Amino acid sequence: MDNIDFITVSLNLRPSQIKLLNSALNDGILHIYISLHPEESECPFCGGKIKIHSYSLRTIHHSDICGHPSIIHWKRTRFVCKDCQKTFSEKNVFSPDNFSHSYTVLHTIAKDLKNADLSYEYIATKNHISVSLVLLYADSFLHIPRLRLPENLGIDEISSDMAKYGGAYLCVMVDNNHRCLTEILPDRSKRTLSKFFESIPLSERSNVRFVTIDMWQPYKDVALKYLPNVTVSVDNFHVVKELCLCFTKFRVQIMNNCVYGSPEYYLLKHWHKLLETDEYDLDYNNPGKYNGFFRMNMNYRDLYNLLLDLNPNLTLAYQLKEKYKIFNRDATEDNCQQLFDDLVKEFTIAQLPCYEEFLTSLKNWRTEILNSFKRPYNEKKQSNALAENMNGRIKTMIGVANGYGNFERFRARALYCFNDRLMYSLTQHIYPRNKREFKPRGKYQKNQTALTTSELDIIEDDPIFSD
Ligand SMILES: [Zn+2]
Repeated sequence: MDNIDFITVSLNLRPSQIKLLNSALNDGILHIYISLHPEESECPFCGGKIKIHSYSLRTIHHSDICGHPSIIHWKRTRFVCKDCQKTFSEKNVFSPDNFSHSYTVLHTIAKDLKNADLSYEYIATKNHISVSLVLLYADSFLHIPRLRLPENLGIDEISSDMAKYGGAYLCVMVDNNHRCLTEILPDRSKRTLSKFFESIPLSERSNVRFVTIDMWQPYKDVALKYLPNVTVSVDNFHVVKELCLCFTKFRVQIMNNCVYGSPEYYLLKHWHKLLETDEYDLDYNNPGKYNGFFRMNMNYRDLYNLLLDLNPNLTLAYQLKEKYKIFNRDATEDNCQQLFDDLVKEFTIAQLPCYEEFLTSLKNWRTEILNSFKRPYNEKKQSNALAENMNGRIKTMIGVANGYGNFERFRARALYCFNDRLMYSLTQHIYPRNKREFKPRGKYQKNQTALTTSELDIIEDDPIFSD
């Protein structure tokens, strides 16, 4: 394949379309000079006969060819109608008319934007364009409408300075069944959530059958109000987390009342994880090793037993916590109600101040906790694991971009990246409408609003085209 054929392929043209094609490598940039056989044969306005009116030179930035950035210099024909005298240009097969980059470059940028691990700076460098132009293209190509509510909706939040209306969190919604992101709201307040659901037709809202949430009251209120056929489940992971937090607070409180350097203090300070995690092997027969504090050989079980001998209330709190964890792990849809109510009784009888708040949560969220033991899809318990996972990915995406100054831009990119069913669409115009929201930019260039990239082109007569 000779050089010219290679360029033809890269430009996605048939050899028969080409009237003239030259190329020259200059300062590492491949310049392609081209003119085509026009397809136009009649006037698009009246169908009359046409003749050539003039030529113009368009410069279009193209993708790398053999490792060299390339520029297309296209001699474009302009026609005039012999009947109605209207003029029009030859069809542009290289790029959308208002863009100075070829379809190939624009498609590459749009595909790069789909990868949440690529920063705008990286995409700009890779495609030899400026960061602001990448942003402009991102705003133009990624128009993400509100997506249809899924049957199994997960709602969670992510702390962010992009949150609006005085909140500190963005609300993240996922499709638990198709495992993708479906919406991000700028705030998680009842007002914002209500407004969102109110805008959706009842027929669509009726299709939502399950919602998984953490223990944030507005989620529950709004779901029950606007989703008539819904079963709300609280994510069990959050319940256990809250319980563990209460236990840890209690442990620290007891520790702070111990004499510094005493065995009690030592155990609660250095070995508390034996009571707080499951990662230690508590087998009696483990050989253990020398403990410098007690000056004897000890294994994890020895230290664990000492911890449980310290304080009867701490031991009771520990036992209740472990019972709840076992319930959470082993209960089924059939027996969870009985087991749960028994547990609530035990917590109530224990009267431990450290669990007062938790006990209230258990009572308030009883229905939702029990709902989480249902397994409506793939034999899986209802949980918010996907939303949690999505939050992690979104946080990474924000980190890669070094933060987003604009919520709409962030929302569009996140949905585009984390929902495989969403595609970009190349538009004929660019939309510089996503202005920075939080930090007003300086006074310079204030009047430059309708920026078209073709304005940046320098159209010049090039001797290479002259016959
Ligand atoms: Zn005409």
